Amino acid sequence: MDKESLRLEILSKLSSLSNDTIQSLSFSLTNQLIKLFSSLPELQSHVGAGYLPLKAEIAPVYQELLRAVPLIMSYPVLIEGEMTFGIPNGMPRGTTWLEPPYNLTEPQWFLVPGVGFDLSGARLGRGKGYYDRYLSESQHLKIGLAWTEQLVDKIPVEQHDCFMDYIITEDFCWDVNRQERF
Ligand code: ADP
Ligand code: MG
Repeated sequence: MDKESLRLEILSKLSSLSNDTIQSLSFSLTNQLIKLFSSLPELQSHVGAGYLPLKAEIAPVYQELLRAVPLIMSYPVLIEGEMTFGIPNGMPRGTTWLEPPYNLTEPQWFLVPGVGFDLSGARLGRGKGYYDRYLSESQHLKIGLAWTEQLVDKIPVEQHDCFMDYIITEDFCWDVNRQERF
């Protein structure tokens, strides 16, 4: 299946979720992330990147996450049509893009939203390529976040697509390099 048809198929599944379901999936996802971070304590000394969810999108509950793990988080900022990252002054505000005030930064690890993922770490985004461009040739750790129903057998990939190191769902953490679930 081509990228656009797969995007539409997965997005229509996502849009059928109620707000309550999204919230409960987001809490479970946050617990899985807390498990991941306790196995990667070195991430706590580097600035990380989160994202601010669209309406029907699973995302970490940052308040819960930061209560459990002392992380320094930044969020996407749009400057001259390109994505960069900013550390907010207090809790992050905004949908997709962080609202000022913030301090621009270069995160060292990334929580990456996606429409779909597969277990090889391939990612399907919303079709704008923001993360592919920002992360091209980046060796930084990339953690894709999704509802289990957003995992598919095979994501069609092009040369410019970036791959994830971990995929975290509401049910489990997936280590792409080891091809192992924990
Ligand atoms: P998404 O990852 O959001 O699903 P695509 O992978 O389809 O989107 O990429 C969208 C567009 O972004 C591509 O058609 C390409 O033109 C552009 N793009 C992605 N990565 C790069 C890159 N590293 N350099 C230049 N253009 C890129
Ligand atoms: Mg892509």
